[in-house]
Amino acid sequence: MLKRSGFKRPVLERVRTVAEPIPMHLRRNAVYARMDVPAEPPIAKFAYVRSRPLLNAIKALPCQHCGASGPSDPAHSNQGAHGKGKGIKASDVYVAALCRADHNAIDQGSRLTHDERVELWTNAWRATVRELVKRGTWPQEIPIPDIRRMN
Ligand SMILES: [Zn+2]
Repeated sequence: MLKRSGFKRPVLERVRTVAEPIPMHLRRNAVYARMDVPAEPPIAKFAYVRSRPLLNAIKALPCQHCGASGPSDPAHSNQGAHGKGKGIKASDVYVAALCRADHNAIDQGSRLTHDERVELWTNAWRATVRELVKRGTWPQEIPIPDIRRMN
C-alpha cells in the first residue's frame, strides 16, 4: 500500500482538447482555431557560426578528399539544411578542407552528379571535423557538429 505523504500534487491546468461548436450568429468573420492539435512550435532561426579561427584551421589542413597538401580551400556546404541559401554561405561549422580541384568539382564542373558532390563533400567534411578535433585546433568556443548525422 502506498504511504500517504503530505506532498500535494500540483494542480494541472486543464487543457481543452475538444472544439466547441461556434454558434451560427458568431460565425461570420470568425477565425477558427483547431483545439484538438497543439499549435505549431515557432520555427527556430538557423544559428550561423562565422569564425575566422575555424576557417584558418581548416585552410591549414591537407585536402580531406585526395590528401593534397595544404593550404586547402574552405569549402562550405551547398545544402540548405546547413544554412546555404541565396546569397548566403552555409554555417562555418559545415566547411570541408578541399584542394582547389576538388572544391571546383563540387561547386562547378560537370564531372560529378549531384549525389556524388554531396557524398564527396560529406565525407570530406566528416574527415575535416575529425582532423581538427584530433589536432586540437577546433576552436574551443564553437560546439562540434555531430558528424554521424548524414545531411
Ligand atoms: Zn583534393
